[in-house]
Amino acid sequence: MRWDGQRAGDQSGQSEQALLGLSGLVRSVQPPDFSGVTFHEVHARSVLNKVPGGSRVPFGWTVNPYRGCSHACAYCFARKSHTYLDFDAGRDFDTQVVVKINAPEVLAAQLRRPGWNREHVAMGTNTDPYQRAEGRYRLMPGIIRALAGSGTPFSILTKGTVLTRDLPLLESVSADVPVGLGVSIALLDRELQRTLEPGTPGPQARLDLVRRARDAGLPCGVFIAPVLPWLTDSTEALDGLLGAAADAGATGVTVIPLHLRPGAREWFGRWLSARHPDLVPRYRELYARGSYADPGYRRRLAARVAPLVRRHGLGPRSGGEERGVPGDEKAEWPEGSMPAGLPRDGPGREGEQMTLL
Ligand code: SF4
Repeated sequence: MRWDGQRAGDQSGQSEQALLGLSGLVRSVQPPDFSGVTFHEVHARSVLNKVPGGSRVPFGWTVNPYRGCSHACAYCFARKSHTYLDFDAGRDFDTQVVVKINAPEVLAAQLRRPGWNREHVAMGTNTDPYQRAEGRYRLMPGIIRALAGSGTPFSILTKGTVLTRDLPLLESVSADVPVGLGVSIALLDRELQRTLEPGTPGPQARLDLVRRARDAGLPCGVFIAPVLPWLTDSTEALDGLLGAAADAGATGVTVIPLHLRPGAREWFGRWLSARHPDLVPRYRELYARGSYADPGYRRRLAARVAPLVRRHGLGPRSGGEERGVPGDEKAEWPEGSMPAGLPRDGPGREGEQMTLL
């Protein structure tokens, strides 16, 4: 890499302090083609994470090769997890990215252990494994090979079009293990997307990613998440997005209203105050009870979305009603920005629908 040997030179005081406690740090670099972003390359001791007991997510294990995410979504659920590294949940989350450079090797060793039961492993549950850094570090091919080689089914949820690079590999390993793909697309409005998710590929590029995954014979769902009250939740906006997902060949959809945990709440609040100050009082009221939108709002959203989903042929396998109100407090996700809803058993069979609400 042409930035080999470079050292981070202009970290903020806080970031420098954080580095002192960053376990396994090898070096920090600021590649010129990643303006303003510092990568902290670490040797991780473990990359296979067990989902805490009691969680209702449909998977028991996760792998996250990166911490922090240059996609920089204002609403990102994972922001608070950056404070565990003594970085801040705002700008540091977007620009101080920890890279587990030995992730493929460590994962392969962990999957070789006799006690490993080949349970489903979800990726994209905390930070995006196909954020721009992956174009440089190329960790995912080794991770995919390690999972498939050990007979472990897995799923990937992403906004990153870098995934296109690995479609041939994913197609190949899908003959050996169940593979599930999900692409997160919150909205089609390009102007809103640029300010809300400034580091992400545009919505059309992500729809193209869905199309390419489907052309490669892989199942691929779309996560319409998060739905932003009064910004992206109109019938017209949802209908347009669901129609575009169906046209791209999505094998199912998951629709999730905005969830504002501590960390995301403050950062998103700043964005909302700057861009849509008129909505601040309404959001305050809607999220007065905590991280989840008021149940009445969630019920109304579910009622609005259900017929649209059916109309576009993207309905759930079983009644959405059984899953309760979207964003229900019981449906707590692990640390993460993009709740993954890929089914644990046999994800990604042709024609299989993912969860609705
Ligand atoms: S929501 Fe996902 S893509 Fe956006 S910053 Fe968070 S981890 Fe990255």
